[in-house]
Formats: sequence, C-alpha cells, structure tokens
Amino acid sequence: MAERGFEKTGNSNWVQCPNCASWFHVSSDLLELGTVPLVCPECANSFLPDHAREIVRSS
Ligand SMILES: [Zn+2]
Repeated sequence: MAERGFEKTGNSNWVQCPNCASWFHVSSDLLELGTVPLVCPECANSFLPDHAREIVRSS
C-alpha cells in the first residue's frame, strides 16, 4: 500500500459485483479507502472493494 492513489482527477473505475456480476462505476476515492462498502445498482448488494469479483482501474 505504498502507492498514493489519491488524485483529484476523479478517475472512474469499473467494479464487478460478486453477486450478480454486473459492472458499475466507482470513484477512485472509494476504492483507495477500501473501507466503504460499494453498492451494486443492479441487485443492491453491498460489498467492500476487496470482495469485488474484478476491478478495472482507469489511469
Ligand atoms: Zn449486483
């Protein structure tokens, strides 16, 4: 966790829901925090970034 991920550009990242496998946008801030549950817009499942099925970060 040495990398600094806090940038002001508001990059959007894609996260895949572990429950329904749909993809949705998550802000970089939430991903970097890692302690804020993400909420899937499709199935309303909430999960931490660590539990995402897959994460695609835009840089
Ligand atoms: Zn879902």
